[in-house]
Amino acid sequence: MNPSLPFVEEMISGWGLYPKIKARVYRPSSPQELEYLLHREGSLVARGLGRSYGDAAIAPTVVDTTALNKFLEFDTSLGSLYVEAGASIDQILRWSVPRGWFLPVVPGTKYVTLGGAFASDIHGKNHHAQGSFSDQVEEVELFTSRGELIRCSRHEKPDLFWATAGGLGLTGIILRIRLRLKPIETAYIWKRILKAPNLPAILRLFDEYQQSTYSVAWIDCLARGKNLGRSVLFLGEHLGLNQLPSHLRTQPLLVHSAPRIRIPYYFPDWTLNTLSIRTFNTLYYWFSGPENRPAVVHYDPFFFPLDKVYHWNRIYGRRGFLQYQCVVPKKDGEAILAEILGRISRSGMGSFLAVLKLFGPSDGRYLNFPMEGYTLALDFPRTSSVFFLLDELDELVDAVGGRVYLTKDARLHPKHIARQYPQWQDFVVLKNEVDPQQKWASLLSQRLQLTSSLHVYRDN
Ligand SMILES: Cc1cc2nc3c(=O)[nH]c(=O)nc-3n(C[C@H](O)[C@H](O)[C@H](O)COP(=O)(O)OP(=O)(O)OC[C@H]3O[C@@H](n4cnc5c(N)ncnc54)[C@H](O)[C@@H]3O)c2cc1C
Repeated sequence: MNPSLPFVEEMISGWGLYPKIKARVYRPSSPQELEYLLHREGSLVARGLGRSYGDAAIAPTVVDTTALNKFLEFDTSLGSLYVEAGASIDQILRWSVPRGWFLPVVPGTKYVTLGGAFASDIHGKNHHAQGSFSDQVEEVELFTSRGELIRCSRHEKPDLFWATAGGLGLTGIILRIRLRLKPIETAYIWKRILKAPNLPAILRLFDEYQQSTYSVAWIDCLARGKNLGRSVLFLGEHLGLNQLPSHLRTQPLLVHSAPRIRIPYYFPDWTLNTLSIRTFNTLYYWFSGPENRPAVVHYDPFFFPLDKVYHWNRIYGRRGFLQYQCVVPKKDGEAILAEILGRISRSGMGSFLAVLKLFGPSDGRYLNFPMEGYTLALDFPRTSSVFFLLDELDELVDAVGGRVYLTKDARLHPKHIARQYPQWQDFVVLKNEVDPQQKWASLLSQRLQLTSSLHVYRDN
């Protein structure tokens, strides 16, 4: 046990830069150091790379897990990787792509840890075909508030497994993960672009191209009237070696490189206004690339286009932004999405990052986000009026039995939890069994009344 594990005191936030608090940040590198923290500190929450947007990884004391990132074992016959959960998707891909393996489910950035991916049970552009991150995970080892290491899977302590998948760090610290990778012949994707002039057209395209491995639509959330919901659909398939153009064959398994562009400081708050976003959206719709002409692209720009720009969140200025992501059941999809987009468009509070995806069936439980339907994600500069707009959207989402994605959230009122996550009480019961002292708590868990108040004690 290390009796003097150091910490730093720093301002922390999620990717949306709101809220921001001063916190003690510990960076343990062994289970022994984690155990030391249990005795030394009050409430804690795990933190990976801080890519959740709101307050899920924020507390007065946080445990930065990124030094717990060792690769432990790889079974090439099964593609099964056993690794410490502080390893990031970036690190995994750097190792796995040259060996011909890829992660079956990746989010829109590779700068997330596997622990963070499991704790949010993230989804990719292939939920309709492959499910979410937890569907690729064989087992996790959880460090509990009693200082025990518990292994759980679909067969062993399944309740704990499901409560931890999407449980936002509230059941313990995920220390190790065993997950399946998928074989690839090349690092390239066969990409196709289709344009949809309005909402019914994009929903029809999602249906028509359900067999496509990857699909995601960028949606112009400021378009109105007959253009409401106009979108650009991106489809993708992993490319086989014999399909690769000859000039790429010298390095078929080329790994991604580091970001080239950095935003060194916060942009002024006025940079993103309705006019700039409307202009961007119109140009993007018309100039997003040639329609229906397939192109071969590297996996990095296909899956992680924003990673090119390091700290892109600073373009929203110091006041930051809110991401709103909801899922609505398929049967009500068109009507409710039209209503949501209509309200956003009328408010003039737009987003240039507006993404629509198709979710397949999900067997997630407790606080797990995905359900069969459509998920819409939008970024809004943080202004006082945007909170009112998002409150209205919450009511619309409640009314159709949809959900707001908690890992993106910074402002949902607790009354919505019971409506959107019908198993939330079971989650709280299970949490209290595994963590009777409420050691694991975040600003989010406190705000949504999933835990009682945060216990902070400083013994120095
Ligand atoms: C540009 C961008 C694109 C994104 N695209 C997608 C997307 O397509 N799909 C999607 O689902 N999400 C997406 N996200 C959200 C992101 O994938 C999740 O928020 C993810 O959880 C972030 O991982 P992290 O390592 O940064 O975790 P953090 O943000 O640090 O933490 C997130 C949650 O996980 C918990 N946690 C972290 N590590 C552990 C651990 N070891 N043990 C227990 N709990 C832990 C934290 O307590 C917190 O509750 C995107 C985010 C960004 C910034």
